[in-house]
This record gives sequence, C-alpha cells and structure tokens, in this order.
Amino acid sequence: MIIDGHTHAHGDPDGLGDRYDARIEGLVDAMDAAGVDRALIMAEAVDVPYIKPISNAYVAECCERFPDRLVGFASVHPAHPHAEEELHEALTNMGLRGLKLHPRFQGVAADDPRSVALIRSAAELGAPVAIDALLWKPTPLALQLPIRIDALCKAVPEAKIIMNHAGGFHFLDALAVAIANDNVYLELSVALEYFHDTPFEEQFLFVLSKVGPRRLMFGSDHPQKDMKAALELTKRSLQRIGFSETELSWVMGKTLKAVLSPGDSL
Ligand SMILES: [Zn+2]
Repeated sequence: MIIDGHTHAHGDPDGLGDRYDARIEGLVDAMDAAGVDRALIMAEAVDVPYIKPISNAYVAECCERFPDRLVGFASVHPAHPHAEEELHEALTNMGLRGLKLHPRFQGVAADDPRSVALIRSAAELGAPVAIDALLWKPTPLALQLPIRIDALCKAVPEAKIIMNHAGGFHFLDALAVAIANDNVYLELSVALEYFHDTPFEEQFLFVLSKVGPRRLMFGSDHPQKDMKAALELTKRSLQRIGFSETELSWVMGKTLKAVLSPGDSL
C-alpha cells in the first residue's frame, strides 16, 4: 500500500495559491494518476498571506467523503486560547487521527510550552504529531529549527513526531534528532526534490540511509508539488542508495501505517 504522508486540499480551489488546484477531487485524481492508495491530508490553522487557513471541519468532511482514501490530521494554533478544546474535539469527535503544528506559519516553536502542552494532549490520545521543519519564510528561522524538536521530545518522550520535510536546510540536525529520540520520523516532501541534482543530494541521502526505512515516510506536499514526480524521485533515490523492495515499502506506506495504527489496520 502506498500512502502519501503529506497532502493538502482546500474548500476554495485557489486557497493554496492560484497556481495550484486545491480541490479535494484534484487530490484524489492525483492519487489515482500516481497509483497512491491513501493520503494524509492536513488542516492548517495558520495566519500567513499566501495560504488560507484549512479548517479541521473541512478536513474531516473530506475524510468522510473518501473514507478509503484519506486520513486527516487536525491543526490548531498553539497561541489560540481554545486550542486544547479544539484539538480534543478534532481527535475525539471528528475522526481526525493526528495533529499538525506549523512553526513556520504559526510562529510558535515546537518546544514552546504552548506547543508542548498540545503535543502532550495528542500523545495521551495516541495521536501522532506532524511538525513542519523546512526552514523558509515568513517567521523567524530560529522558531523553525528542527533541533527544537529534540527539546520537545525530551519533554514528551511518549509522543510520536513526524518531522515534515526531513529538516529541510538542517537535515543533519534532523538526523541528530532522530538518533537521539526513538519516536521521531522523517517525512520527505519538498526537501528530497530541493536537493536533487545539487552538491547536497549525497549528504541528504546519507541522512536517509542512517535514519533507515522504518522511520522514513514518503510525502509529496500536493498540490504545491507533483505527487507522481515526487513518488518516482523517492523510489529512484532510495533504490540508488541500496534500499530493497521491502525497505522501500516501509518508506512508501508501512512506516506511516504503523505510526497511525500500531498493530491495527488503517
Ligand atoms: Zn504542506
């Protein structure tokens, strides 16, 4: 089973920028075209000019429409006074399966006490937490550093943390955090493509080989990135560094499946 571990859709077709088709139908079509069985679709409780917020209710509605294809993660803003209640509602009553936090768009670091409290609540409910770690505009980069996930893991060691974009420009720090903390997983969208055919590609792939297939997850960041191209690049890159078909199958879906549903089906 192939699972895309990082996708978005929006009720407004231009909600993720007018260059991209943000419709949920566009996501399912891209999955069909790429041969992807399921996708993790994430809400975005964000406040930035170029992306409109994606509500938990919208993500839940998409998952209800395509129950065999989609798994949803909630998003709440750590600075919002009712964030705890919103998270609890999303995870217990709306069918959402995890939490997405976005230091780059929310301006709150992973080890900020407000983030830590939410991640502790998610962990208590058995829900994994995806955290953006690319390092890009618009918030101060210091808030986005993947090394801050280490402090978070020390505070909530039981939390399962998916580091989106594999640490981006700080991919060696992502490796250090993954070595230091057993429950950290790297999701590969954007970064693998960004470093492809650059002097840093070999170093990035070295990190992936060290982290190993059971802690890596394929992701595309559809619709801003092409799902089929991301899938093919991921396969090619990992085969090149010697991953077997079995190891590849972990990256392509089994790792995420195990994180979402330990000992269970999706
Ligand atoms: Zn994304």
